[in-house]
Amino acid sequence: MLPLADRMTQLGTETAFEVLARAQALQAQGRDIINLGIGQPDFRTPEHIVEAAAKALHDGHHGYTAANGIPALRGAVSADLKRRLGVEVHPDRVVVVPGGKVTMFFAIMMFGQAGTEILYPNPGFPIYESVIRHSGATPVPIHLREENGFSFSAEEVLAKITPKTRLIIINSPANPTGGVVPKAEIDALVKGLARHPTVAIMSDEIYGQMTYDGREHVSLLNYPELADRLILLDGWSKTYAMTGWRLGYAVWPTALAEHATRLAINCHSCVNASAQYAGIAALEGPQEPVREMVAAFAGRRRVIVDELNSIPGFSCIEPGGAFYAFPNITGTGIDSRTLQARLLEEAGVAVISGTSFGEFGEGYLRFSYANSTENIRTAIARIREALASPA
Ligand code: PLP
Repeated sequence: MLPLADRMTQLGTETAFEVLARAQALQAQGRDIINLGIGQPDFRTPEHIVEAAAKALHDGHHGYTAANGIPALRGAVSADLKRRLGVEVHPDRVVVVPGGKVTMFFAIMMFGQAGTEILYPNPGFPIYESVIRHSGATPVPIHLREENGFSFSAEEVLAKITPKTRLIIINSPANPTGGVVPKAEIDALVKGLARHPTVAIMSDEIYGQMTYDGREHVSLLNYPELADRLILLDGWSKTYAMTGWRLGYAVWPTALAEHATRLAINCHSCVNASAQYAGIAALEGPQEPVREMVAAFAGRRRVIVDELNSIPGFSCIEPGGAFYAFPNITGTGIDSRTLQARLLEEAGVAVISGTSFGEFGEGYLRFSYANSTENIRTAIARIREALASPA
């Protein structure tokens, strides 16, 4: 055995990729699998964005770019934030990265080390806890409860802050629950954070443009008092159906942007140039494709919530955002991981165990409704049938 560094044993994973691999293996055997496991839009990247990337390649944009992103893209991000949120952000605070995950890694590596604590949502995106452990810091879960609509109580978050706390991660709208944190709770959190001026905040707003039924997405960028300690994580993956392009960005405090750029130089040099040109086209081009996709998700959300509630032993609250439903399955008497395996093997439906998102995910499953209404209905019918027959 090669003597790996200890930190490698601390690294977790994202079960969604493992479920995807198993689903693909079953498909290769000829099984008909409906994949409600994977967290990516089932839409194609809009054509004008694809064309912008092709043009960039034909125009000869084949070389390295600035490590923090081409100035035109950082300028386009700044203009987009002004347009959408009414916030002035200097383009020098924007650092373009190969996907939102990279910002996550950078932010946690910047603040996490042995002896420090980082607060993170649980159930939440599994990479937060994984990278916190990798950094040597202690992960401190913020328990997101179903009875709170999978939001948090600001009071509870603030009570977890200790002199060792370096970073608080929040994610709204959330993966895997679809929870949206109400403005009053964010206001209370920001107010309370005034008492903890050395604690940084990473706000993962990658699903920020996906909220339903008039729910408001409150961006932390709207709180100028946080400007010197807020890392705003966003990107193109979900909003523009560009998961495979690997393109994301963060707004960093001015003093940290340089550190993020240095990490980029050490890791990946820059994001591939044509994807960056595509990113400009996405932000500056027509936004109808985004509205159409979100409208489609809104319709499917209705369908999946009703369908899930029709399964004996399941109960599902309405997710406020993103494209996930997170039903409580305790009424089935089956634990989450066993049920995940059973639904894939017996019903041919790939979903993700709530425990893949932290210990507080036990008793839940994550369903992605980035799939057709027809597939959603068929999947749930198959689940009902599988659960009606003995294991
Ligand atoms: N943040 C959350 C909450 C996510 O669910 C995801 C992807 O699933 C990401 C960040 C990462 O996005 P990207 O594909 O841009 O790295």
